[in-house]
Amino acid sequence: DAPQAETAALFARRRAHLARPQKNYYAAPPQIERGWKEHLFDVEGRAYLDMVNNVTILGHGHPKLAAAIHAQWLRLNTNSRFHYAAIMEFSERLAALSPDGLDVVFLVNSGSEANDLALRLAQAHSGARNMLCLLEAYHGWSAASDAVSTSIADNPQAPTTRPDWVHAVISPNTYRGAFRGPDTAANYLSAVTPVLEAIDAGGNGLAGFICESVYGNAGGIPLPDGYLREIYAQVRARGGLCIADEVQVGYGRLGHYFWGFEQQGVVPDIITIAKGMGNGHPLGAVITTREIAQSLEKEGTFFSSTGGSPVSCIAGMTVLDIMAEEKLQENARTVGDHLKARLAALIDRHPIAGAVHGMGLYLGLEFVRDRTTLEPATEETAAICDRLLELGVIMQPTGDHQNVLKIKPPLCLSIDSADFFADMLEKVLEEGW
Ligand code: PMP
Repeated sequence: DAPQAETAALFARRRAHLARPQKNYYAAPPQIERGWKEHLFDVEGRAYLDMVNNVTILGHGHPKLAAAIHAQWLRLNTNSRFHYAAIMEFSERLAALSPDGLDVVFLVNSGSEANDLALRLAQAHSGARNMLCLLEAYHGWSAASDAVSTSIADNPQAPTTRPDWVHAVISPNTYRGAFRGPDTAANYLSAVTPVLEAIDAGGNGLAGFICESVYGNAGGIPLPDGYLREIYAQVRARGGLCIADEVQVGYGRLGHYFWGFEQQGVVPDIITIAKGMGNGHPLGAVITTREIAQSLEKEGTFFSSTGGSPVSCIAGMTVLDIMAEEKLQENARTVGDHLKARLAALIDRHPIAGAVHGMGLYLGLEFVRDRTTLEPATEETAAICDRLLELGVIMQPTGDHQNVLKIKPPLCLSIDSADFFADMLEKVLEEGW
């Protein structure tokens, strides 16, 4: 039919002028041109439940956010070298949401930029260059944030091609890693010690450590109990700074916590955020201490043309207002708990469903071919996602083996939508793939 042919023709045009490495979801994707709350609509009028859009935390098409951004555009948008109230007010609100002492904010435009700046801060503060990071991690596309990204799903050569200042340690994957279960922090740390000792022996010091506080890229897997407490202590003993990448897992998505690091009982030196804080408007931030922020002055000043613009600050504050008014963190907790219980029930009925990771509306359902060997069901996961699309659900895989469903919908997800997702998933598992 006509709209379908137009969609295919439009997709074919990607090849001409869109750079090839920019991947898209699905081999023959629907053409999505509208969204409302947790739903997306294609040009043929089909509705999809969007279970993957962790950026749009308020949901799609939020009228209050659109109106606030529109009004601010009409009034003023300019760069942050000018003096206006919104940048102070937004920074104050971010500081108020952060642990005591972390009360100084840099505003940027994305997670990659936030992590890039955080790495620079750690290096400027310590006077060292070496960074510790984890395998199976993603922190961004910019030169420095890419340097500490090790996920083989994006780049199979990543673990062996990082620059010499990057020291990636064994993935503390408590489900399928070298050591399994929550009580494995000591085991994982024993694998980190030789890396730290080698850095010590090199004599060039340690700038810091970056990781997601809940292992988001691996599928929402909790770090071993006490892992961050121990590793943070070792890093700080060497003068390094601890960076919590909260780009995916922070900002209320976990439901039970606003920040992922709360679950580990630690306070980082630097927090990086992006994605949901702008609900899709380009926005990122680095939150740290005054002393750490000031260390950048050794290198000059910091300036981002659009970071912290009046429109961006209004967008960020309106997102926070709506989150509070609509109790979205609470919704992430109640609907997330409900969904997690429904997904956990699949484990009893379907051998391929190996485990449900995560909490709130950051969940991962991991598919395995064998519950003992944990052989990843990679092709099956792709087929399940394709079939879910036919059934009206947008879902994608994550993790080094691309065998974990990354379940991170808008935080306004209703119980009915959560049930629809669980029902459709169960249908696919019953049908086979
Ligand atoms: N950190 C994490 C944990 C992420 O998941 C991402 C994006 N997927 C980034 C950083 C980079 O954010 P952005 O795409 O906004 O640059």
